[in-house]
Amino acid sequence: MTIQNVSSFAKGAWVAPAEGARTIASAITGEVIATAGNDALDVQGMLDYAREIGGPALRKMTFHDRARMLKALALHLREHRDAMYSLSFNTGATQADHLIDIDGGIGTMLVFASKGRKEMPDSQVYVDGEIEHLSRNGTFLGQHICTPLQGVAVHINAFNFPVWGMLEKLAPTLLAGVPAIVKPATSSCYVTELAVKVMVESNILPDGALQLVTGGLGDMLDHLTCQDAVAFTGSADTALKLRSNPEILGNSVRFTAEADSLNASILGPDAVPGTPEFDLFIKEVSREMTTKAGQKCTAIRRIITPEATTEAVIEALSTRLAKTVIGDPRLETTRMGALVSGGQKADVLEKAALLASEAERVFGDPDTLTVEGADADKGAFVPPMLFHCGDPDAAQHVHDSEAFGPVSTVMGYRDLEHAIALANRGKGSLVASVITHDAEVAREVAMGAGAFHGRLYFNNRDSMKESTGHGSPLPHMVHGGPGRAGGGEELGGIRAVKHFMQRTAIQGSPDILTGVTGQWVPGSTETDAGAHPFTRRFGELAVGETMHTASRTVTLEDIEHFANFTGDTFYAHMDDAAAKRNPFFPGRVAHGYLLLSFAAGLFVEPNEGPVLANTGLDGLRFMKPVSAGDAIKVRLTVKKKTKRNDEYGEVRWHVTLTNQDDEQVAEYELLTMNAF
Ligand code: NDP
Repeated sequence: MTIQNVSSFAKGAWVAPAEGARTIASAITGEVIATAGNDALDVQGMLDYAREIGGPALRKMTFHDRARMLKALALHLREHRDAMYSLSFNTGATQADHLIDIDGGIGTMLVFASKGRKEMPDSQVYVDGEIEHLSRNGTFLGQHICTPLQGVAVHINAFNFPVWGMLEKLAPTLLAGVPAIVKPATSSCYVTELAVKVMVESNILPDGALQLVTGGLGDMLDHLTCQDAVAFTGSADTALKLRSNPEILGNSVRFTAEADSLNASILGPDAVPGTPEFDLFIKEVSREMTTKAGQKCTAIRRIITPEATTEAVIEALSTRLAKTVIGDPRLETTRMGALVSGGQKADVLEKAALLASEAERVFGDPDTLTVEGADADKGAFVPPMLFHCGDPDAAQHVHDSEAFGPVSTVMGYRDLEHAIALANRGKGSLVASVITHDAEVAREVAMGAGAFHGRLYFNNRDSMKESTGHGSPLPHMVHGGPGRAGGGEELGGIRAVKHFMQRTAIQGSPDILTGVTGQWVPGSTETDAGAHPFTRRFGELAVGETMHTASRTVTLEDIEHFANFTGDTFYAHMDDAAAKRNPFFPGRVAHGYLLLSFAAGLFVEPNEGPVLANTGLDGLRFMKPVSAGDAIKVRLTVKKKTKRNDEYGEVRWHVTLTNQDDEQVAEYELLTMNAF
């Protein structure tokens, strides 16, 4: 059998294993299948290469350029899925597990590609939040912005998700404009190496944007600066060791950790046997125990059930777990494969023994294990093991020892308060789930347990068909948790991108803010192109280009006509005495929607032209009532432009309506699609 050489990718070249290489065994046969690592890796040179070649190339691109790059990368990876599946069986993972790791990783990258284009600007500066008004006359304003870190992100990943683990960190990093050096866990790094090869050979990434270290990381962390970031997933012990590095502490290097987590699932008091929620609970728990052979950071370790239902839960779970066919993950009949290594198996059995000191094993005996198509002793196979802890208040290990395999403990609760207290005994976790059809139960758990958990997952008969599962971190939602779970946050949409950028408070005049952000700020210079802006194409329009309309007097007939025409005969528009009794109105006033319609009538250019569609309106505020006899006029300014494709782009117009005394009566942002 040939032994695979797993290389690193450093400074644009592949570096084969040599002195200091580590061996990697198959999870199925225990035989050595690969080696990885090279003590001679030039880690300082890799950091310099990322900082000097990769970073500048990425920062030249806009968020949209980088989002398009992510999409192309993800689609390219998808074309090479089969090769990755084939290699990944050696990690003990089944085809269903590959879908979570490989397809899940690609899907995550696609979500960031899409969010990058929808929620970030087509420029290099991300505007964070609204303008802060710091002066009476508006000549001095504040605005937060985010710009990419000018260093490198070092990603240290766990063995359980060799592809997803890399891509979920890489996507937000690259979208931010920061190069990455990825260090996968050695035991499954051959799968990551293939994914990196696929990405590098696609030539989609600029040089220096992605490097790979297989084997040891050397003293790379000793060379990090304030512009670098470390994102770590693995054990709490390693997290503590790495984050205590004097250079990391001394330079305030950002260090995000996602570590051990004693995740809980609570069966609601309403979810008694016979309800759809009870069956759903059994299904979710058994799936979480056996997927990836329980090697999931989000897997359910503690099953918290009403005391009266505990026996029924144990019985139903045991029946379901008994159907789990354990075997060579390549076999279609296999439902659960192996742990990643012999070392991991020894660790799981050791932790299970610890749990057995305070809980009774009610299902799964490692000594009588049947394995299909593989040798149970040579491969890293263990059965699903279910424990029952009769006194969870007195117990300790069940709340703080994570057996990182198909191992879980059932414990009973007296009332919901007790259930919450037990869930919080994990001292910080990634996710807790609650299966309940009672919104009051959900609210109580959110208030009582929210502070201890990065994610709360509620499921019941209404959502079960479309729900994504207790254990699935979603790119849109925060993944991470307080305390034992590492104290970090990953994913969560654009929040994740900001982890690789610096937020800076910008203070200055409106023109300065417009210049820095590329978005027109009220009070800054208006330009007049000498033509109606609706006659100008997307490419011709400039940020700050403004039109001021003529004014129009609103009459009582207008108000009555609009009321009768639309059916909106609300008393404030029709009944002077009633309107006067209302503290907001001086008497009968014009409809807000009438003002919007008149505004459109004042600013549109009626002829066919480059404005293709009005796609919406944001941030509408009516500030002052308009009475019959008042005259309104409109200012329309190009605030921001976003190219959508080669044919058209979105123009965001800042619009204000003022009265005859120049008092602002309404403000909003109008969105149009304009042809190029
Ligand atoms: P480790 O913490 O040992 O390893 C995690 C990562 O850190 C790996 O890439 C590892 O590389 C790397 N690493 C370890 N030591 C160093 C170092 N000194 N410098 C730089 N990098 C280092 O976790 P394991 O993967 O061995 O898993 C152990 C336990 O961690 C599991 O049993 C489980 O309890 C927990 N775990 C939790 C996860 C979670 O997501 N919450 C995920 C995975 C594990 P290498 O492999 O080369 O040593």
